[in-house]
Amino acid sequence: MAISRFSNHKIETKLIHGGIYGDELTGAVNVPIYQTSTYEQEIPGVHKGFEYSRTGNPTRKALEALIADLENGTQGFAFASGLAAITTVLSLFKQGDKLIISDNVYGGTYRLLSKVFDNFGISFVSVDTTDPAKVEAAITSDVKAIYIETPTNPLLGITDLQAISDIAHKHGLLHIVDNTFYTPYIQRPIEHGADIVIHSATKYLGGHSDLVAGLVVVNDAVLGEKIAFIQNAAGGVLGPFDSFLLIRGIKTLGVRLDRHVDNAVKIADALKNNADVKNVYYPGFEDHPGHDINLKQAKNGGAMISFELTEGHDINKFFRALSIFALAESLGGVESLVCHPATMTHAAIPKEVRDSVGITDGLIRVSVGIEDGDELTRDLLQAIEASRV
Ligand SMILES: *Cc1c(COP(=O)(O)O)cnc(C)c1O
Repeated sequence: MAISRFSNHKIETKLIHGGIYGDELTGAVNVPIYQTSTYEQEIPGVHKGFEYSRTGNPTRKALEALIADLENGTQGFAFASGLAAITTVLSLFKQGDKLIISDNVYGGTYRLLSKVFDNFGISFVSVDTTDPAKVEAAITSDVKAIYIETPTNPLLGITDLQAISDIAHKHGLLHIVDNTFYTPYIQRPIEHGADIVIHSATKYLGGHSDLVAGLVVVNDAVLGEKIAFIQNAAGGVLGPFDSFLLIRGIKTLGVRLDRHVDNAVKIADALKNNADVKNVYYPGFEDHPGHDINLKQAKNGGAMISFELTEGHDINKFFRALSIFALAESLGGVESLVCHPATMTHAAIPKEVRDSVGITDGLIRVSVGIEDGDELTRDLLQAIEASRV
C-alpha cells in the first residue's frame, strides 16, 4: 500500500489529500472511476499491479489508502457494506473461538454472530464493556478477541479504548473497534491500542444516505495480509463507482461533522431541559458517566442522541408529528432522522436482552443532521407536545 505524502498532516488536510490523491496518468485532481473487471497483462503475470477487480481496483485502492491514512493504520479495505466488512473480520476466527462483545452492539452485528457465525462454532458473550473489570472477568481460554463499539448503539455508553486494549494484549487477544458512530474525525481507536477498526461507511463517512459500504483498517502487516486474503477469497468488495462516491463524501466529513455536533449539543440540551423527556443519553453531557473517558479519546460527543418520553405520551403520535425529521433506519447522513430501536435497528435482539440493557420500547434514537439547529430543535419540541395523550 502506497504511503500517502500527507500522512503527517492534520486530519482536515488528510480528508482532502490523504491516501492516493488525483490521477498520475492525466493530472485529474480526482481519482477516476476505473469501471473495469479485468486488466491486460503483457505476458502471464506481468501487469501494472492489477489483475482482476475483486482482488484490486484502482478506485477502491485509493479509498482503501485514504481510510488507512485517516485512521493512522497500516492498511485499509473496502467492502460492499458494513456487515460485509464485519463478516470479513469475523472470518479471522475458527470453530471453538469465542468473542467478547459490547452488550449493545449494532443489531446486525448481534444477528450475524448469533444466527450465522454461531452455525460455524464461533461463539460470543455480551459484556458491559464500559466496565473494563467485567471484560477481564469474562476472559476464558477460548476467548480470542474483544469487539467493542464506543459509543454504543443506541445507548451511547462509553468504553475506555486504552484500558480494553491493555487487557486484550495482556491476554493475547485482538482488540476490534466498530468506529462507525464517531469516524476518524472524532476518534481514532488505533491511536489508543486497537488492532482492527471497522466502519459502516454507509453512515457519516458516505454522509449523504446514497450508498452502502464498509471499511476495515488494521494496524499491522500480518493482519493486513490475512484480511486481504479473506477479502479476495470471500469477495464482498466495494465497486468502483461506490468507492468514488465514498471518497467524495469523505472530503466534506470534517465540515459536516462540525455542524452535526453543534446541532446535537443544542438539541441534547433542549431535550434535557424538557419536563416531558426522561433519560437523555448523550456523551457530550458533562454528567454522562463516560464523559471524561470520552474526551480522553475523542474530540467531542458526536451527533447521536437517544431519549425516552415520560409517561402519558404516545410514541407513534410523536413520530407522526415530526416535520423535518424522517422516521428511518440508518444514521450519519446530512438529513436528520429518528428511529425506534426496539422495532427497527435492534428488532433482531430478543426483547429480554433489549430490556436488560435498557433498549426499552419507549426509546427514541436521533441522528442529528446539518439543517438549521434551531428549526430542528423546534421540530422535536413541537412533536413532543403533540404526542401527549
Ligand atoms: C449500520 C451499522 C453497521 C452495519 O453497516 P451496513 O453498512 O448497514 O452493513 C455496523 N455497525 C454500526 C455501528 C452501524 O451503525
